Amino acid sequence: MSQETKALIVAGIAAACVLVAYFIPTGVAWQRKHQSRRAIFILNLALGWTGLGWLVSIIWAFTGTSKEAAADIAIATSRPDNDTIACPKCAETIKRAARVCRFCGHEIA
Ligand SMILES: [Zn+2]
Repeated sequence: MSQETKALIVAGIAAACVLVAYFIPTGVAWQRKHQSRRAIFILNLALGWTGLGWLVSIIWAFTGTSKEAAADIAIATSRPDNDTIACPKCAETIKRAARVCRFCGHEIA
């Protein structure tokens, strides 16, 4: 193997490593099912070479809500809130502090 071939192989391996490292933010975003993973990929691709763009995209990839976290938040906020109860007589949702049901007039002890 000539010296030139060896140098080419080393350069090729180095280029592959740089390419993999360059797209780490995109990989992280995809792995986390980040809601903005397409935007992170575009930022990574377009401005990653500036260094600052790469830094911003990796921070963005590691922070913010993933799709799973967003779903958890949606479930948590859709639960009936804690200061309401169901009326024991008519089952309508009324305030926990209510003494009389506003729907059926049932008195709550
Ligand atoms: Zn009622």
